Amino acid sequence: MPVSPRLYVESPLAGGVLLDLGEEASNYLARVLRLGLGGEARLFNARDGEWLARIEAVGARRVSVRLESQLRAPGAATAPALTLLFAPVKKDGTDLIAEKATELGAAVLRPVFTERTQTRAVRLDRMRKITLEAAEQTERLDLPEVLEPMALSHALAALRPGTALVFCDEGGGGEPVLDALARLKGRDAAILTGPEGGFTEFERSALKARPDTFPVSLGPRILRAETAAISAMTLWQAVCGDWG
Ligand code: SAH
Repeated sequence: MPVSPRLYVESPLAGGVLLDLGEEASNYLARVLRLGLGGEARLFNARDGEWLARIEAVGARRVSVRLESQLRAPGAATAPALTLLFAPVKKDGTDLIAEKATELGAAVLRPVFTERTQTRAVRLDRMRKITLEAAEQTERLDLPEVLEPMALSHALAALRPGTALVFCDEGGGGEPVLDALARLKGRDAAILTGPEGGFTEFERSALKARPDTFPVSLGPRILRAETAAISAMTLWQAVCGDWG
């Protein structure tokens, strides 16, 4: 039997509860998947774990489901946590970063404006929708938090104290990324990537002077911002995260 569809909902989830699904979820179950009475779905809300839900009514626009049993308990927060601070790049790039950050287990995402950031218009609602869909697909029980865009200096000041900053520096002065990550095991980390035009010398020297900042190199080739973010998150997850 195919695995039942997995949907994010906002409502609290508990045994026996009857839930009217929103229009989009209802449409997906009833029209796209053609599920009828008795059909199964799995629901999660980033708080109460994952629940088996059974379709109890199918209306013209609304599907109602009854919550039957908890399939997975809410996960204990997987410490350490990963934040991605990224300079937004043109729309598709930002979409890609949001999707891959969710798959790669980032806890927090924040667009940051740097001196050479070209894209100022960041659609947070769109980013949140992308993270939500990626979380549904990737079997996460939680959602990454998508925070308001901020100027780089403010975003750095807003980092939780004790968070190590992994600064992806295309300027070539950073240490090999794996060397830095080896020293960061067990610590919350924020990865910082720049825009298409890179960081300015001013930003680079300010970052290097900042305490608890680890300038890293991702090799001798200049990567696109998207590739840099995805590569750095992958390496962090393998060395410091929950892959091993
Ligand atoms: N136009 C710039 C490149 C910017 S690449 C230049 O030619 O110098 C976009 C971002 O990806 C950079 O700001 C950096 O954060 C990251 N990045 C790309 N390649 C990298 C590398 N080899 N090492 C570390 N970071 C890299």
